[in-house]
Amino acid sequence: MNIPLSSVSLSEREINYAKDAIESGWISSSGKYVARFERALARRIGRQHVISVLNGTTALELALRAVEVGPGDEVIVPALTFVAPAAAVRTVGARPIFADITRESWTIDPDEVRRLITDKSKAIIAVDVLGHPCDFDTLKSFGIPIIEDAAEAHGACYRSKPAGGFGLVSVFSFFANKTISSGEGGCAATDDDALADRMRLIAYHGMTKERPYWHDVVGHNFCMTNIAAAIGFGQVERWDELVSARNCVAQEYDELLRDTPVQRRPVASWATEACWLYTVATPRRARTLAVLRNASIDARAIWTALPALPLYADSVHGVYPVAREVAKTAFWLPTWAHMPSDAIRCVAMTLNAAVGSHIPAGLGEVS
Ligand SMILES: *Cc1c(COP(=O)(O)O)cnc(C)c1O
Repeated sequence: MNIPLSSVSLSEREINYAKDAIESGWISSSGKYVARFERALARRIGRQHVISVLNGTTALELALRAVEVGPGDEVIVPALTFVAPAAAVRTVGARPIFADITRESWTIDPDEVRRLITDKSKAIIAVDVLGHPCDFDTLKSFGIPIIEDAAEAHGACYRSKPAGGFGLVSVFSFFANKTISSGEGGCAATDDDALADRMRLIAYHGMTKERPYWHDVVGHNFCMTNIAAAIGFGQVERWDELVSARNCVAQEYDELLRDTPVQRRPVASWATEACWLYTVATPRRARTLAVLRNASIDARAIWTALPALPLYADSVHGVYPVAREVAKTAFWLPTWAHMPSDAIRCVAMTLNAAVGSHIPAGLGEVS
């Protein structure tokens, strides 16, 4: 059985909305689905303002610009995450400073953050890694603006409140492999009226609302298209279904892998995880992945720890034992909403055999 890492779940709803957007002729960013999508998201995550943009990476850049992060500033970023937060900090001319993650959550370690704060620290990007919220109460106590990256955390909760509600600005991605998707897409959410205005200004050419073709700031064009918003709106209407469908897949894996000697991603006491990609760890990862891949199962090693990237050498301020260990041992199993049980069983059985003593000859360590 050929089993991909991920697959998107699109229903008649998204197809009809996208068709409606196209037939209306409003295929760029001025169309009714953009506002609908933003309102539906704001309700869902309990925020006053949602600004939809091209993707999660531009949402991060927009958030950084809105809180006026620029050259000379430092932004504390977790050492284990998809690279976008670090890249966005560089894009606005500031320096990311890597903090290690904790063993009990795999999210940014507040003790590390405390150690790394200087008078140049302008923000913390708190990434809700793999659908697990950060320790926000502790992070907020430092009094430095938090940008929450909830790109992998649709449907997760921190102390019963939805992820996406904890940053001065919080961002989401709606890339095709994320829990809620618009094809390409992202958003920035905030409760601060002035910040919201500033983000809308930057995201639309720096053009003031009051006076057409008058520009006080250098803007971008970060606007999401009406077609993408139509797809995203349909997905937001299916939010509960799409979140719980992934959690069901995780539950099936949990049961099937109960006696398998792999470590499941840890979940801290404050967190309600929303499974994005089912993640496990083993010191025998290379061999295990080779067996899975040999069975046409697209399991994949997690990201390289960011401090190991030469590009970010001047962001390294420590040794990052936890991030490095997780980066060397963790990997993703195929996960998507409504993944069929026979595919889940096939992955679990192959994994079981791989981490047991039955490593087929010829499948040695590969990286
Ligand atoms: C996917 C992702 C992003 C980037 O989102 P895009 O929409 O792909 O630009 C940013 N941060 C994290 C943590 C992500 O997982």
